[in-house]
Amino acid sequence: MKMIRWFKWSRLALALTLVAGFATAGFAEEKKAAVKPYPLDTCIVSDEKLGADPAMKTFVFTHEGQEIKLCCKSCQKNFLKAPAKYLKKLETANKPDKK
Ligand SMILES: [Zn+2]
Repeated sequence: MKMIRWFKWSRLALALTLVAGFATAGFAEEKKAAVKPYPLDTCIVSDEKLGADPAMKTFVFTHEGQEIKLCCKSCQKNFLKAPAKYLKKLETANKPDKK
């Protein structure tokens, strides 16, 4: 009787471990695929060319699944004040008919 119970519980524990493992792996993969690459080579806030000034370190972060690159970290404050305004720039950059 005791043996059967132990067997049941160990099976349950194994099943839970597998489910948790799959869920974590699936979630991580989904999150990685959902991030859209940043299409510009300029800072979305200041329009400065990224990496043009060696004294400025390009600041990269992800905003709602969109990768954002800024010429410096202080530009993030401006971006977060009005993200929609700056994200509009990416929309126009992504349009293929822009020549
Ligand atoms: Zn900046």
